[in-house]
Amino acid sequence: MVDFLIVGQGIAGSVLALQLLKRGKRVLVINNKKINSASNVAAGIYNPITGRAMVKTWLADTLFPYCTSFYQEISQMLGVQFLHPMPIFRPFLTAQERSKWMERARTGSYDDFVERVVGSAYHQGNMVYPYGGIILKQSGYLDVKSFLRATRTHLEAQDAYVEANFVYDHIRLGSHVDYQHIKAHQIIFCEGSHVKNNPFFGPLPFCLVKGELLLVALQQPLRIIYNRCIFVLPQAENRALVGATYDRQDLSLTPTEKARQLLEKNLRSTFKLSYTICEQRTGIRPATFDRRPFIGLDPCYPQLGIFNGLGTKGVSLAPYLAKRFVEYLLLQKELPIEVQLGRSRLGKGTYVH
Ligand SMILES: Cc1cc2nc3c(=O)[nH]c(=O)nc-3n(C[C@H](O)[C@H](O)[C@H](O)COP(=O)(O)OP(=O)(O)OC[C@H]3O[C@@H](n4cnc5c(N)ncnc54)[C@H](O)[C@@H]3O)c2cc1C
Repeated sequence: MVDFLIVGQGIAGSVLALQLLKRGKRVLVINNKKINSASNVAAGIYNPITGRAMVKTWLADTLFPYCTSFYQEISQMLGVQFLHPMPIFRPFLTAQERSKWMERARTGSYDDFVERVVGSAYHQGNMVYPYGGIILKQSGYLDVKSFLRATRTHLEAQDAYVEANFVYDHIRLGSHVDYQHIKAHQIIFCEGSHVKNNPFFGPLPFCLVKGELLLVALQQPLRIIYNRCIFVLPQAENRALVGATYDRQDLSLTPTEKARQLLEKNLRSTFKLSYTICEQRTGIRPATFDRRPFIGLDPCYPQLGIFNGLGTKGVSLAPYLAKRFVEYLLLQKELPIEVQLGRSRLGKGTYVH
């Protein structure tokens, strides 16, 4: 008998499993490596100041200190370096935007995330950003593949990982859950975009978003993450990831010419560097109708739960929200209202089955 059977070992399932193991719980993760996973293509950037308006992302003051210490602790425990703290440069696009930021900087409310506000032209390589920009701290990237690999090895060493496709029809519900020969107190589903196949949680108002990115080879190394309209993330051997696109209509995994052209156009306007494209990658983000995750237990079958809907920000959201979920599961502490399943009744779509 295990305490928790977790379905899926992307960022969500991995982080949740690690949080439960930290509290001494017995977990078993079932994952099918053969099907697509957003985590396998994610650039892994964590960025506290986002969007056109360049404002702090939801819960930033809590999420970012927690997420960096969580990944560092796991990295030390597993002996693998997968967290790469790195500044992010976000240029101002107009003089007005710069003045607004100079104002904001004076209030001090962004001090924890802003290393420096560059108030005059900023030179990087052979590019000049005429209005300057902000250089962020508490930012960087998680090498997601390496994090997932190390977590899998750790789970396997404890007999807590099974490579298999989870079949929903094989669930038997009673005071606990039977799944094939496995008995668990609860099953927590973390299947990312595959939640659509889940008979219990599939009806939740998810709003999946396809994303594409390019792996390019550059002539010169980059030392900073660039982020405005697109991101350019330095990788080993003078390579960089350039992304990403957002498409809610085409949810296929086929790389598109349209996405490549858009990314290349933005790349050329960002950097005057020659590059060659090495690869184009696609994935489906498990986003939701209101851009907040879905976390909680099924109202009819509390043996079943969900930790999903991490959308575009799995790396920064997962550690803190998994901690809150574990406190909810083990100590009955309330979850933040924004992630509760019932909220969807108030918005688009209803959650009934
Ligand atoms: C192009 C792109 C770029 C991105 N860049 C970033 C970024 O820079 N920073 C960031 O924070 N986020 C980024 N994201 C978003 C990030 O990828 C997601 O937030 C995150 O990966 C979601 O993780 P997940 O574990 O919920 O889902 P997934 O990663 O999709 O994992 C789901 C897992 O469940 C398994 N599974 C599903 N169904 C079954 C089944 N029936 N049986 C067994 N196993 C099953 C799958 O195999 C998979 O391993 C990006 C996404 C895309 C597409």
